[in-house]
Amino acid sequence: MKTKPYAVIGLGRFGTSIAKRLFEAGQEVLGIDIDETKAEDAELFLSHTVVADATDERALTSVGILNFDCVIVAIGNNMQSSILTVMILKDLGVKKIIAKALGKHHGQVLDKIGANLIIYPERDMGERVANQLLSPNMLNYIELSNEYNIEEIMIPSKMAEKSLKELDIRAKYKVSVIAIVRDGEILVSPSPKKIIHRGDLLVIIGNKESLAKFSRLE
Ligand code: ADP
Repeated sequence: MKTKPYAVIGLGRFGTSIAKRLFEAGQEVLGIDIDETKAEDAELFLSHTVVADATDERALTSVGILNFDCVIVAIGNNMQSSILTVMILKDLGVKKIIAKALGKHHGQVLDKIGANLIIYPERDMGERVANQLLSPNMLNYIELSNEYNIEEIMIPSKMAEKSLKELDIRAKYKVSVIAIVRDGEILVSPSPKKIIHRGDLLVIIGNKESLAKFSRLE
């Protein structure tokens, strides 16, 4: 049988944002919630929603949960239900389970019972806000490891109207420019002759310390 991409269990704020974004990107998404009102509200922006208790194995089987490639458990404050749901999904043989954790201990349990990816929304958002305060020119980042990031950084004004060769960013700041974002367009692997303009964003790879220094330049 052909599998479907995503099911989201728990249509609170977190689950709803995931489901909505996936659906807007053209993906088929099934939303599941124990609360009828939540399921009804989500019908406005999802292809399918069902009312079901995810801690009930039969209920999950009857909605065809095994037909989904990836199940996201976005049950919020009820830790017991979140853990039980992940256990059932794992037992049933769901291949990819992503689960939201309220904190470290919850996350450790989810990891032990086999969740493939654990998200800590509050912790991650807190870190993101702090990083943005520390590096005001940094707009976005992807953490590659404890040491390395890819960051999208607004160019310091003194760099405007100069070529990458002139700026010699790699030698001076020990980071590498992998793309320039200009008016929403992405110029990948820019040539050294490329001139940087005011308002450009640079996508840069490097170690976190060097990136932090670069993003504090004025
Ligand atoms: P958030 O912080 O993301 O808004 P909530 O705790 O408000 O988190 O939302 C979690 C959602 O999960 C709620 O809509 C709730 O009805 C749903 N939920 C809780 N337990 C179950 C369950 N056993 N089965 C399905 N959905 C559940």
